[in-house]
Amino acid sequence: MSIVFIALGSNLGDRLANLKNARQALAEHPRITVMDSSQIYETEPYGNVDQDDFLNAAVKIETDLSPQELLACIQQIEADLGRKRLIHWGPRTIDLDILLFDNLQIQAENLTIPHAELTKRSFVLVPLKDIYNQKIFGKDLVEWINISGNAEKVRGSDLEW
Ligand code: ADP
Ligand code: MG
Repeated sequence: MSIVFIALGSNLGDRLANLKNARQALAEHPRITVMDSSQIYETEPYGNVDQDDFLNAAVKIETDLSPQELLACIQQIEADLGRKRLIHWGPRTIDLDILLFDNLQIQAENLTIPHAELTKRSFVLVPLKDIYNQKIFGKDLVEWINISGNAEKVRGSDLEW
C-alpha cells in the first residue's frame, strides 16, 4: 500500500460540491481509502484577475494503485465531474493533482512526482500542512510557505466537508 497526497481545487460552479464530489469519488474507489482531509481554504487566483476565487484542499489516501493508474483515476474523476455539471463552461470545475506518492520521484512525460509546482504554491502547501508534517526536499512546509511568498492569498474558511 502507498500513501499519497492529492490536491483538490475548484473555482467554477458549486465549488464546495465539486470538492466534496471529488473526495467522495476517491473514497468510493475500491482500491482507495481516504485517510485524512485538510481544512478547506479560499485562494485569490494568481495573475489572471478574470476568474473567481478558488477553493483548495488536500487529502491523504492509501492505495495499491500504481502512480500511472492513480493518474488515470483522478483524470476520470475530473472528466466525470466536469462533464456532469458545466458542459458549456469550460473543462475545469475540479483540478486534482498528485502531490506526493510515498517517497517516489517520478519524471515521466505525463507525470511528475513530487508535483512540479508543489514547493512554489501556497494554495497547495497550506492545505497540505494540515495533514503532512514531514520535510519535502529538506525543508518543512512552513519554510516552503515562507519562501513561496504568496501565503497571504490563501485564507481559511468556515466551509465544512
Ligand atoms: P494543472 O494541474 O497544471 O493546472 P492539468 O490539471 O490540466 O493542469 O494537468 C495537466 C497535465 O499535468 C496532465 O495531463 C497530467 O498528465 C500532468 N501531470 C504531471 N504531473 C502530474 C501530477 N503530479 N498530478 C497530476 N497531473 C500531473
Ligand atoms: Mg491538474
